[in-house]
Amino acid sequence: MLFLPGSPELQIYRDYATRMGPTVPPPEMPATTLEELASRYDGFLLDSYGVLNRAEETIPWAAEGVSWLKSMGKKVRVLTNNSALSEEDNRQLLSSMGIPLDAGEVICSGSLLAREKTALGITGPVFYMGLPSGREYLKAAGLETTDRADQTKVVVLASSRGYRMRRIAEAHRILRQEGSLLVVLNPDAVAPRPQGVMARVSGVTARSLARETGCKVALLGKPFGEIYDLALEKLKLPAQKVVAIGDTLATDILGARHAGIDCALVLTGVTPPERAKIEAKSWQIWPQYLLPDLRPPRTVQFL
Ligand SMILES: [Mg+2]
Repeated sequence: MLFLPGSPELQIYRDYATRMGPTVPPPEMPATTLEELASRYDGFLLDSYGVLNRAEETIPWAAEGVSWLKSMGKKVRVLTNNSALSEEDNRQLLSSMGIPLDAGEVICSGSLLAREKTALGITGPVFYMGLPSGREYLKAAGLETTDRADQTKVVVLASSRGYRMRRIAEAHRILRQEGSLLVVLNPDAVAPRPQGVMARVSGVTARSLARETGCKVALLGKPFGEIYDLALEKLKLPAQKVVAIGDTLATDILGARHAGIDCALVLTGVTPPERAKIEAKSWQIWPQYLLPDLRPPRTVQFL
C-alpha cells in the first residue's frame, strides 16, 4: 500500500489499524502456492479487487485458480466490501470475466445491514447514497428509503458513485441533527481502477461527512469483525479450516488476523512483491503467507 504521506486514505487505514490493534508476527512469512494452501485448508475467502479482478479486468490465473480449488472440493467464497453492487451483481460481473462462481458464492459487506440494523437501532426510513444495485441491501434489511431530511437521522452510504454533490449536501443536513448515524457499507478508502489508477472511494466520503457533521459512524465490512462472523456461518467451517486471501494489509489481512483466520497476502494487487515485507513491518499487520498469484498446480498436459 503506497500512499502519499498525510493523504486522507493513508490516515483512514492507519486509524483502522490503530483501532483494531497490532497483529502478532508469525515466526516466518513464507511464499506459498495455492496447492500448499489447499493441502491445509478447506474454505477459501477470496477478496475481489486485486485478487480476482481490477475493475473489469481479470487478474492472470484467478479464473484457473478458483476453478482448480472447486475441482478439489474446496469451499470458495468471494469476500468483498464492494457494496456498489448487490451480491448477485458482483457475482455476475466476476462470472462475465471468467471467474467460475455460483449463486450465493459472493459475500458482501452490504449484507451486514440486515444483520446489524437492530443493534444499530435503525427502525424508520433511511437516506441512501449509492448505485441502484446496492439498494438490494436495504430491501434485504426491510428498510424503506426517504429523500426527505426531516424524515430520518440515518444515512446509508453504499458507494462513492451514484449521486451528485447535491445529495452530499442533503446528507450533511441529516447528519448534523442530534443522534444521527452514518452507516458505511464499504469502509475502503481506495479502489484500483484499470491502467493502475487508484480511486478514492466511500471510506474517504464517510470520513469527511463524519468530520464535518460530528455524526456517529458505523463501519461495516473488512477489516471489522462482523463480516468474518457472517463468512464463517456461510462456509459452515471452523476458523482453523479457513484461509483468507487478500491484497490489502489494512483490510483483508488485518481483519482476518483479528478474526482468528489464517491469511495470505497476494501480490497481484495494491501491495507489490518487493514491498510486501517492508509494508507488513511498517503497518505491523502480518499475514501468515505471501502468495505470488492464484496459479494452480500444473495439471496433466495434453500434447
Ligand atoms: Mg483488494
